[in-house]
Amino acid sequence: MDDCLFCKIVAKKIPARIIYEDDDAVAFEDINPQAPTHTLIVPRHHIAGLKGLSREDGALVGRLAVVASVLAHKKGLESFRTVVNTGPGAGQTVFHLHLHLLGGRPMGWPPG
Ligand code: AMP
Ligand code: ZN
Repeated sequence: MDDCLFCKIVAKKIPARIIYEDDDAVAFEDINPQAPTHTLIVPRHHIAGLKGLSREDGALVGRLAVVASVLAHKKGLESFRTVVNTGPGAGQTVFHLHLHLLGGRPMGWPPG
């Protein structure tokens, strides 16, 4: 998608600290980290968010969780939080599906 920030990062048209990529997913460091580890894991292909997913998207969304697990292991995170904000009311600001991987500090619950 031409005007999508994360599509541009995936296509390497704008710079980001990419730490992982495969055929389905790309992971890069959040530009405004909220924890010592704050990585974003995105599908290579444009999906706006969790809202409106179809059954066929299930495997791809599962891949994002697997990448989160691999990266958490690589980073030595015993505990970590994964977040998907859906819709502006929940804090979604970029409308290309992304999983936040947060770790390296204690996490409160419930989240704000
Ligand atoms: P969300 O608010 O859940 O949609 O998350 C969007 C995230 O993208 C925020 O945590 C931003 O800090 C992050 N972000 C915005 N622009 C960039 C960028 N150019 N490179 C890396 N992360 C970004
Ligand atoms: Zn996109």
